Amino acid sequence: MTKINKKEKLDFQAEVSRLLDIVANSLYSEREIFLRELISNSADACEKLRYLSISNEKLLDKEKDFKINIKISKKNRKIIVEDNGIGMSKNELVENLGTIARSGTTKFIESIKENKEKNDNISAIGQFGVGFYSSYMVANNVTVETKKAGEKESWIWKSDGKSNYTIEESKKEKKGTIIELSIKKDSDEFLDSYRLRSIISKYSNYITFPITLHDIDEKDSKSEQINEGEPLWLKDKKSIKNDEYNQFYKNISFNFDDPIKTIHYKAEGVINYTSLLYIPTNQSLDLFNPDRKNKIKLYVQKVFISDECENIIPNWLRFIPGIIDSEDISLNISREMLQNNPVISKIKKGVTNKIINELKSLLDKDFDKFIIFWQNFGAVIKEGLYENNEYHDEILKILHFKYSLDDNKWISLDEYLKSIKSDQKEIYYFANIDKENLKRSPQLEAFIDKKIPVIFMTDPVDEFWLQNINKYKDKEFKSITKGSINLQDPKNNADKIHKNNNEINNLVNILKVELKNKIKDVRISKRLTKSPLILIADEDGIDINMEKIMKMQNKSVEDSKKILEINPNHSMIKKLSKSLDKLNHKKVSNLLLDNAYILDGNIVKNPSEFIENLTEIFVK
Ligand code: ADP
Repeated sequence: MTKINKKEKLDFQAEVSRLLDIVANSLYSEREIFLRELISNSADACEKLRYLSISNEKLLDKEKDFKINIKISKKNRKIIVEDNGIGMSKNELVENLGTIARSGTTKFIESIKENKEKNDNISAIGQFGVGFYSSYMVANNVTVETKKAGEKESWIWKSDGKSNYTIEESKKEKKGTIIELSIKKDSDEFLDSYRLRSIISKYSNYITFPITLHDIDEKDSKSEQINEGEPLWLKDKKSIKNDEYNQFYKNISFNFDDPIKTIHYKAEGVINYTSLLYIPTNQSLDLFNPDRKNKIKLYVQKVFISDECENIIPNWLRFIPGIIDSEDISLNISREMLQNNPVISKIKKGVTNKIINELKSLLDKDFDKFIIFWQNFGAVIKEGLYENNEYHDEILKILHFKYSLDDNKWISLDEYLKSIKSDQKEIYYFANIDKENLKRSPQLEAFIDKKIPVIFMTDPVDEFWLQNINKYKDKEFKSITKGSINLQDPKNNADKIHKNNNEINNLVNILKVELKNKIKDVRISKRLTKSPLILIADEDGIDINMEKIMKMQNKSVEDSKKILEINPNHSMIKKLSKSLDKLNHKKVSNLLLDNAYILDGNIVKNPSEFIENLTEIFVK
């Protein structure tokens, strides 16, 4: 029987088509990254095969040396990227180049769509694992010919990057992948060998496999190696220039900033490893992705092992990109065994301590830089207070907050303690994610009047770690929006003054009765000075801000019943309490409750009823 070599036509997954559309039509000025993406895929394919061949040498097919060859032809308008790495099976071709497996990619598309200048974000393409598709920024047709190591069949994948692609069998003899780009009219610049050479050394200098470039139009030209190849992290620190460190950071992280700090050290002793870590300046787009991973690549003596080693760095340091290379791990280690490997645990401890020390020294030596760092990554570090670990004390020492006494200042917990009177037993904090309006909140007014410092907790994560950590030194953390707070002078106690004030007491009683289904209690406030009333959370209820955060996360949280505090010295409250017999009690009560909602930065639930009540009382 003759074998029919059928050509199959397959549709791209809808998201891929959308992505391709964005990529192909972008006017993005750094289109050159397509080559970095292709080379990085080839290098990954070589790394993968090198790793697998440790236990199965046959896969190498006698070809021990891995390489990446790049060829260009101006005449034929082609760039070809060829590797002898692992290759792809037919299924893998469909899976890898026809669908988008990761949710991150959909996120990426969203983020580009949201961003009006859509080209701003496209440089982050590699972060989301859509690197291959960036070829369509410069090419109108792409062909991928590939043979998976250890398999007999080979395949050709072809697409113009619109809605579908074809796959058919090919006759490729050697394992590996050849990617051929037909270059678009507007991308001539990339057919220039000098241009390509500079792109390769800019982005791919430390790829550990030789990358060669060959202009196939020129008969006499030979292919020559472009990249330096020696891993930067194993070079002598003194011989490395700052630019080299920064470029390497960009290559491994796909970030486009310069790092705020580079940490390069060799640990020798019980465990030996070399580590090159970077503290970024800016947040990366995936910082708060739910399926975020850390950014550490693990090597064993220059051989790439994994970039999915969860236990090598704590989750709250996941924004730190870097390399860890250790000779104390066996090359044959399986990826599963990396999960609870004692050597990895020790490296994690060493790396964590090192980073904490570097952050402390940044704090001591360059406070302004530290604050830039803190504004971008403080919220992630605080996640370390929410989980159980041995670093709570260290993290608490570097926490920084804005606070009520000085708008422009960031303070640590120790500085807070220095700013309070000796008899203050608590660390007052105001948790509110609404940074804009927080200073105007009635919750804060008595504290501002009395110059009692209050720390602002403005990250959603604050609510969570504060459930885990109750104290700093001997002072307890106390939310100003929760439970009773008495800031009044004992000599001039509001309770005493109003004990005999029947009108106010009467108002309190009416509110209690009329609002009994809506709120937990009504009290005469000991914290308000300017505002008429305020809602606060019960001492053992859920904090107001926390409720907001949970609602934002779509958790089905019921409104918890709050306590309504009224300010007996406020003119509106005084007047109202004097005219109660003329007014409809239910309406007054609901109106006051709505007022408290609004003062707290909320929207009233029934605006028309609110206006109706308001009008009626005005008229009277
Ligand atoms: P990423 O490389 O970030 O995973 P890409 O879109 O660039 O995303 O590639 C998708 C997948 O296609 C890769 O993860 C890899 O499995 C496969 N692939 C791409 N290029 C090659 C290659 N040269 N050799 C083998 N596999 C490849």
